[in-house]
Parts: sequence; C-alpha cells; structure tokens
Amino acid sequence: MLSIQNLTKTYRGNKKAVDNLSIDIEQGEFIVFIGTSGSGKTTALRMINRMIEPTSGKIMMDGMDLSKMNPVQLRRQIGYVIQQIGLMPHMTIRENITLVPKLLKWDKQEKDKVAERLIGLVNLPTSYLDMYPAQLSGGQQQRIGVIRALAANQDIILMDEPFGALDPITRDTLQDLMKDLQVRLGKTVIFVTHDMDEAIKLADRICIMHEGKVVQFDTPDNILANPANDFVRDFIGSHRLIQNKPSVKIVDEVMIQPISITIEKSLDDALRLMVSKRVDTLFVTDADKRLIGYLNVDSFTGPQRTQQSINEVLQREVIYVKTGTKLQDSVRRILKRNLQNIPIVDNDHKLIGLITRANIVDTIYDTIWGDEEENKNALLVTREENVQ
Ligand code: ADP
Ligand code: MG
Repeated sequence: MLSIQNLTKTYRGNKKAVDNLSIDIEQGEFIVFIGTSGSGKTTALRMINRMIEPTSGKIMMDGMDLSKMNPVQLRRQIGYVIQQIGLMPHMTIRENITLVPKLLKWDKQEKDKVAERLIGLVNLPTSYLDMYPAQLSGGQQQRIGVIRALAANQDIILMDEPFGALDPITRDTLQDLMKDLQVRLGKTVIFVTHDMDEAIKLADRICIMHEGKVVQFDTPDNILANPANDFVRDFIGSHRLIQNKPSVKIVDEVMIQPISITIEKSLDDALRLMVSKRVDTLFVTDADKRLIGYLNVDSFTGPQRTQQSINEVLQREVIYVKTGTKLQDSVRRILKRNLQNIPIVDNDHKLIGLITRANIVDTIYDTIWGDEEENKNALLVTREENVQ
C-alpha cells in the first residue's frame, strides 16, 4: 500500500539524513524503524506524512503520489503520534480521545461514536468518557493515550518513540495493547524506536537504519537468524541471535485449562471454587468466555469483602498473551514481570488456556533452551520457592 522509492533528504552541507531509502509496506503491517541516534528514523517518518518534504525520491500510497495530494487529505489517511503519550488534564477523556477528529472537523455524533467504541476496546466503561484524566488511574490514563492514536480512523499510523520515556513495565503493557489493537483493527503502523526488544516484540518487519541508509529490512526472525552484516550483529547483540533451535513451540501446545468464573456469580461462589480447585488465581469472564480480569487472595481481604460482588473487587489489569504466541516470549514475560502464570486468549479475547511457571518447568524448558543454564535456573529457583 505504501511504496517508498529512493527517498533522500539532504540538509545543508550536503549531509544526507536519509539516503536513498526504498521499501514497500503492505497494508496491515507493523513496521519498526530502528537505528542509533541520528540514523534518520525521524526524518524518514516525517517524510511519510510530509511534515518534511524529501529532497528527492517519492512515496506512493495505493498508487497515488503523496507529493501530489493535498496535506489535509493526506493527514486524514496518515496519523502521526509524537513522543510520549500524555493526556490534557483540563479536557475530559472524551475530548482527549477525539482531539484529532476535532481538528479534522468531524461532527459530534461521529466523535462520540468513536470515543465509545475505543474505550470499549480497552475494557473501560463509557461513563469514564466524561471524567477527567486525574480521576483515572495512571494505567488507565496510559491506555487512553494509546487509543487516542487510533481515534481519527486513519489507515496508517506513524509513531515516533511513543513509549520511550516510560518505565519498563508500563512500556511492556502498552506495547501489548498497541500490538493487540493494531491487529484487531488492521492498521498499518510505522513505529520508530531505538530499543531492539521493542522492535522484535512489535514488528512484522524491522527496518534497520544506519547513517540514513537501510542496512536490513526483514522479519525479526530472519534478522535474528541471518543478520546482514557486523553492524546488525552488534546492534542486535549476541544474546538475541537465534542458534538453530530444534523447534519453536507456541503457547497453545503446552497450555493447561484455566479455572474461571463468570462475572455475575457471587464472591462466595468464587471463593468456594478457588478452595475446591485449589487455585490461588481465578479468572473472571463474561458470559461469552471473554476475559475481564481475575481474583486472587487479596480480593478477599479487607472489610466486608464477602458482601461485595465480583465486579467490585475484580482486578481488571490482567496481563495475557494471544493464542499462537511463541512460548519463549511468554516465558520471558512471566519472568520479567514476576508473574505466577499468564492466561491465553484467542482473537475474540476469549480465555482459552493458561501457562504457569510450574507447567513450563515440568514440560518444556529443555526443548526450548537446550543448555541455556541461566533461564533454566531462573525458573527452577522460583519454583522451589513456590513449593515451600
Ligand atoms: P533519528 O531520528 O534516527 O535520531 P533524525 O532523522 O532526527 O535521526 O536525524 C538524522 C540526521 O539528520 C542527524 O544527523 C541529524 O543531526 C540531521 N538532521 C535532522 N534534522 C535536521 C535539520 N533540520 N537540519 C540539519 N540536520 C538535521
Ligand atoms: Mg528521532
């Protein structure tokens, strides 16, 4: 859908910020530009929505030459998200979400519709639309920040280090959210970062840049397996390079059946179920099995907890992985976030399985890592702690 052809930007003194960049991007792809500081990522990105005009070369979108389109028409189709996602404190959540639609002069009805649809996608109630950012938790505000990027319904979204300033855990959560929304809504995203972990996690294809030039443009797996040269090899770091692994397992192959309850049941029912099944986490779903949150031991402590409903005490910020995720990625997440387990959902967000620390150790560590002692020990140590 987007064909970038010999794109060059020369600044004064003949310095080429971007040097003869040519890549084709398909509809619905998540493309990540990565490179050291000054490698031309921002300049390349900004030429795509014509915030910067190229010195030479051209960009075609669905066969149309971007330089011949008028900028307003262009920005209806290509959105730009700047570094850092912050909400305007004096605006309601609704106004925050519909900031760009407002600039594009959508009518009220259209704006309301998109605000309601998007807030639903991050599992927050529509009543939040009329609240102010300070009335929401930090995590909720950040989720609103992410959906705001999608509000103008543009086909292509350009993001320049949007998560750069966030702490690792928040960053991880918002990456998951962004990726999930991108897939669900079928958006084409072009995302700039200098963090290789972020690139590997998000990208369908990674474009590695150095001194304005493309060094390698390929899928994360291909880049890790066959780095184009020493620069790429150094950049990705030896710990990430893929040695010929015998098999790459996905979560679906080893997941177990999670214990869950539907949200309209009582807290008493939940407690009884947890006791009878001997679980310390109980997943909560709607009637269609869609994952809403979870209960754990903490949900039952505090005054008069048993008189409350599941809805009131539920933990809604649940970290999950999608069906088809590589087991190794999920394990990494479990370790990094110090989780005991991680639920697996299908494309309709229905709860279909569970990976626990224990079942990872029991079943598969040696098939993934062979003799990578470090990971194995990390899992084993925690497992022993659990047994005590
Ligand atoms: P990145 O986003 O990868 O860090 P940039 O695209 O911002 O890189 O910059 C690429 C190169 O172009 C850098 O060497 C930078 O100094 C230079 N550059 C960027 N903008 C300008 C400008 N307006 N005038 C002159 N040089 C610039
Ligand atoms: Mg930059």
